[in-house]
Amino acid sequence: MKMLQQELCSELLSGSLQLYGDHMAGEYKGYYIMIEPENGQYIVTVAAHLPEAENNDIVKNFLREQQREQEQITGCQTEKYMVRFSVQIEKKEKNISAVINSAVEPLIAYLSENHYISGCRNCGRPVSLANRHKVSDGYCYLCSECVSAGVLREDVPGDGQNSFFSNISQEKSSPVPGFFGALLGSLVGGALWILFFRIGIIAGIAGAAAAICAAWGYEKLGKCMDRKGMVITLLVTAFTIYLANRIAWAWDIFDLMQENGFGFMDIFAELDDFLAFSGSWQYYRTLLVGYVLTVICMFRTKRR
Ligand SMILES: [Zn+2]
Repeated sequence: MKMLQQELCSELLSGSLQLYGDHMAGEYKGYYIMIEPENGQYIVTVAAHLPEAENNDIVKNFLREQQREQEQITGCQTEKYMVRFSVQIEKKEKNISAVINSAVEPLIAYLSENHYISGCRNCGRPVSLANRHKVSDGYCYLCSECVSAGVLREDVPGDGQNSFFSNISQEKSSPVPGFFGALLGSLVGGALWILFFRIGIIAGIAGAAAAICAAWGYEKLGKCMDRKGMVITLLVTAFTIYLANRIAWAWDIFDLMQENGFGFMDIFAELDDFLAFSGSWQYYRTLLVGYVLTVICMFRTKRR
């Protein structure tokens, strides 16, 4: 999925956008744009306004006309400093980037011809690419003044104009639910590890699978993946792999020794003693291969 998104991102708007986990953002022909995938459609947000205009109704009319020509544009919404529309992608659609590009390009051409500019969603002031924020209805650009004035909403309670401030998050993950997500995800990988080990496939591959599942679990329950999330995911994965490998080896030895009256739990607890007979070197090699593959895989998926 990550690979696909990376590929899509490079094909969208001449590769002007960057991939940030669950959305893409960047500047294209002077306009600040964000694209978020959501249930088979892509929500495109463009920061755009005319300095003198009261509202963005003219752009809305333009988009409505576009919509008549291009059935993939399924909805549009404008605010004083922002234009947003969604692009529906058919399940069998192979060239997603072409569909999105053909929906966005005309709008950008229109904005540029009519001298629209990009700015903060709340006040229209100039922003930089770093001013990206997640609010209740998606990502947008907000100048730092408006963000630090987030307390403003208390001064103007019930003001619909500022309601989206209430949900500004600085994209921080929640580590506790994230931890459980990572744990559940890594258990899938741990089970695979034992399975692979039993049928004789290099179990290390399952280490990579555990890392992917753990990262996925963290992102699902912890809302997003950040540095903290990566550390937690890595630790949880390392622990699960260690446990899975121990279970797999204990199981193997149990198969050989149960006739001699050894129970599984005895072997599991005293594994090091049993390994001394059968070669602990191989045990640690399996673990090492798993860890190396896990780390490689983590960095491959996380480097954007
Ligand atoms: Zn502002």
